Amino acid sequence: MAREVRVRFAPSPTGPLHIGGVRTALYNYLFAKKMGGKMLLRIEDTDQTRFVPGAEQYIFDSLEWCGIKLDESPVHGGPHAPYRQSERKPMYMEYALQLVEAGHAYYAFDTAEELDEMRERLKAAKVATPQYNAITRATMKNSLTLPEDEVKRRLESGDPYVIRLKVPRKEEIRLKDMIRGWVMVHSSAIDDKVLMKSDGMPTYHLANIVDDHLMEITHVIRGEEWLPSAPLHVLLYRYLGWEDTMPEFAHLPLLLKPDGNGKLSKRDGDKLGFPVFPLNWTDPVSGEKSSGYREAGYLADGFVNFLAFLGWNPGTQQELFTMDELIEAFSIERIGKSGTRFDIQKARWYNEQYLRAKPDAELAQYLLAALPEGIDCTPERAEKIVSIMKERVTFPQDFWKEAAYFFVAPTEYNEQVAAKKWSAAGANAFIQFKNELDSLPDFDADTVKAQLLQVLEQNGLKIGQVMQALRIALTGVEAGPDLMAIIEIIGKEETQRRIEVAVERLSQYAK
Ligand code: GLU
Repeated sequence: MAREVRVRFAPSPTGPLHIGGVRTALYNYLFAKKMGGKMLLRIEDTDQTRFVPGAEQYIFDSLEWCGIKLDESPVHGGPHAPYRQSERKPMYMEYALQLVEAGHAYYAFDTAEELDEMRERLKAAKVATPQYNAITRATMKNSLTLPEDEVKRRLESGDPYVIRLKVPRKEEIRLKDMIRGWVMVHSSAIDDKVLMKSDGMPTYHLANIVDDHLMEITHVIRGEEWLPSAPLHVLLYRYLGWEDTMPEFAHLPLLLKPDGNGKLSKRDGDKLGFPVFPLNWTDPVSGEKSSGYREAGYLADGFVNFLAFLGWNPGTQQELFTMDELIEAFSIERIGKSGTRFDIQKARWYNEQYLRAKPDAELAQYLLAALPEGIDCTPERAEKIVSIMKERVTFPQDFWKEAAYFFVAPTEYNEQVAAKKWSAAGANAFIQFKNELDSLPDFDADTVKAQLLQVLEQNGLKIGQVMQALRIALTGVEAGPDLMAIIEIIGKEETQRRIEVAVERLSQYAK
């Protein structure tokens, strides 16, 4: 019987979750749900020196914001609890010892100085990458070189030691990656990795394999930066006797900087002009702040849709997908092999689409919430404003930023447009138009427009000659939604007042 699909997202809480990490979590989620399987979150915190307070909570908050629902985790619990590696510490030694007994791992007692000396020695002998491996291990202090009774004595007397994997000297290690196909690595390229550290904690490599096995993981979907470790993991599965249930691997292509030069890293912070984190983050030590997509005004569903397309495509023209549709359409086969350039314009485009798709009543709430104190607006009026503004905004906060002129008369006018478009003839027509507004039976966009056209005709003017001038008179700015709709919303008296003020303030341009 086929095994139930079980995937894991296994971040280390060493800082805020990078956008690439969020994509990894998303692909795991889409795959698990598509296959009717489970997704768990495991916190890989074996490197206590890199632990950052708040980072774990940040991971939970980020996944929750994206709508990635976990089946098992440190907070949800589950059949394989605990899900934090630091809490699983007592479980790992047994497997390291199993490897030692089988001759696939060994104790190493070398001090930091001795390791440095070895590296210096190799460097002097022009070895390109000095490492503890099948050749150098013979010159070091370990249970392969020291007499058995000395090893025993050292272990009993509590001498610090690590346990290292005994990587074979000459062996081709093969693994099949679901995205890359067969990957071949020669064992001489792998060093004798530490499996257990001197503080009794496992390293990432051992803990990762032991946990993936015990947690019955069927597919490991992770970033490409882990591909070089995969052959080592294959050796561990083999030596631990778990090759039969070894998970399948899928290493995701890197997220590249927008210019394609190098990977988009955490350190890019806001330097490239956009966030690299899902949520705002303040470094607990330095106090340094990094911005997040959520706070910048990105909607979670648009952000997720955007992320899904950073490395995957459905093979059709469709670009807008709900989470359920993504789950339905997702497949690992359609993940690209090469790195994906990050394109913030695309993220903005998605946001615009998702924003516009929302009901006006919901969009109105964004505007109402942003109104400064002292400015009142009924929900009905807010709805009218957002309905004509929504095609022009990217973020919820833009509604207030771009629509302030619905509430406050302009105090400045676009001078360039004024210099080019304001005219004495136009100003006269505006005054006539303003006066005639009093006699209109209704005050709606169509009636107002008919009136304006009539006045312009009487004055021998074409609408194209004066429209921009009238726009800056009423809004101060050169662009915006349909001006007649703006007039309808700001109302008769306010329109009249603004025309009067503008005609006076812009008189210097009236040629
Ligand atoms: N803890 C590793 C990380 O930080 C997990 C890598 C893996 O998925 O195997 O990304």
